[in-house]
Amino acid sequence: MVKPSRINHGFMLEPTQLKIEMDVMLDELSDSIRVLYHSWGVKPIMEGNVCKGVIFESKEGRKAVLAKVVIDATGDADICRLSGAPTSSAIDDECRCSSTALVYRIGGFSRSAFAAWQAAHPEEARLLKAGVSKIHGFRASLFATPRDDVSWANNWQPKHDCSLVADLTETEMHTRLKLREVLAYYQTACPEIFKDAYIYDIAPQLGTRGSHRIVGEYVIGSNDWAFPKEHEDCIAWHCTVDTLNDNAPIEIPYRAILPQKVENLLAPGRHISADRIAIDNVNLIPQCVGTGQAAGVAAAVAVADGTSTHTVDVKKVQDILAGEQNVPLPRNAHTDASYTENLVAHEYGLYTEAAKKARASGDAASAYRHWTMSGGMGNASAPKDHTDNS
Ligand SMILES: Cc1cc2nc3c(=O)[nH]c(=O)nc-3n(C[C@H](O)[C@H](O)[C@H](O)COP(=O)(O)OP(=O)(O)OC[C@H]3O[C@@H](n4cnc5c(N)ncnc54)[C@H](O)[C@@H]3O)c2cc1C
Repeated sequence: MVKPSRINHGFMLEPTQLKIEMDVMLDELSDSIRVLYHSWGVKPIMEGNVCKGVIFESKEGRKAVLAKVVIDATGDADICRLSGAPTSSAIDDECRCSSTALVYRIGGFSRSAFAAWQAAHPEEARLLKAGVSKIHGFRASLFATPRDDVSWANNWQPKHDCSLVADLTETEMHTRLKLREVLAYYQTACPEIFKDAYIYDIAPQLGTRGSHRIVGEYVIGSNDWAFPKEHEDCIAWHCTVDTLNDNAPIEIPYRAILPQKVENLLAPGRHISADRIAIDNVNLIPQCVGTGQAAGVAAAVAVADGTSTHTVDVKKVQDILAGEQNVPLPRNAHTDASYTENLVAHEYGLYTEAAKKARASGDAASAYRHWTMSGGMGNASAPKDHTDNS
């Protein structure tokens, strides 16, 4: 048996159940949340540098929703980009954040039997994966789901810009056009596992890891991993996929979801403010959930207090998050102090050779970029202990 050099703790979600659960959660708050599906936000309503709402288009035509605080959670900074706030883009970089995907699931074979087969036939397993990627024309591989008889296929379609209709179309169509061939390949190349396999479903739309992002009042960069960084306006505290600091949590400041130059607009999620290297590591699901929750609380506090997104009482936001909503935040009286003590006692994870080298060279970005390009896209030189499922 191959001994893993690192243990990754993760959890899997069943997407259909998650959709239902999210509707249940919204429905529970239907007296305070009005949900409008099938409405596309197309333009911010600006008065000078203040965002006053958003224009939406739908089957009903063009409508305006006015708001005291607007939260742009489009992932592509759609509203921020048109508001006059500065943004930047990952599209020209060869990184995780410039890749799209149309995921699909394959049923009719046993995931555990496949895992045993892979362990017993590592070379054949490598060739099988390479064969599938060759048919697709991009890297693709199977991952576990909560059910043994259904696996999902992740894929990485590099240099695709999800803000361009041509790239959106190509991602979806080209993946689907190859699916029958991919299935037939699995069935003929490895019949002992895949002879009864079938396409279980295809995601209703493509996904992307990133595109445009905001340039916020703080831009997260390599130094946030290479040096101990304490942010007094920390609103989310997360481990990321970088190994420079041995996956210790980093502090995400409120300023990283606060666009420059525009008032009453927040931008949590995968378009968070980070430089072209750091963005790959700081816009995964946990950070999107954490910054999204914090944006909601910050907006509510700003509205209740009559302040703005730039003048909101961040301490109050932190106390609500940590005190009422059980979000751990460093140095907050509501958070178990041992979490922070533990981190400090372990040098913020900065004992790694990579971190020491980065600090000694005075060029954290180059040490960090090396990892991002090799591990973030999970190519042949990726560290063996890094999960490439992102
Ligand atoms: C194939 C794939 C696999 C991944 N695997 C992992 C993983 O294993 N672990 C992990 O942590 N992360 C993973 N990620 C990354 C993670 O899924 C994203 O970073 C995260 O979901 C982003 O959340 P978000 O809410 O910011 O944006 P999104 O999830 O993209 O949500 C944005 C929403 O806004 C809607 N929208 C966009 N524009 C508009 C508009 N103008 N008007 C109205 N609505 C709009 C979109 O339809 C979408 O519903 C993966 C990403 C992909 C694509």
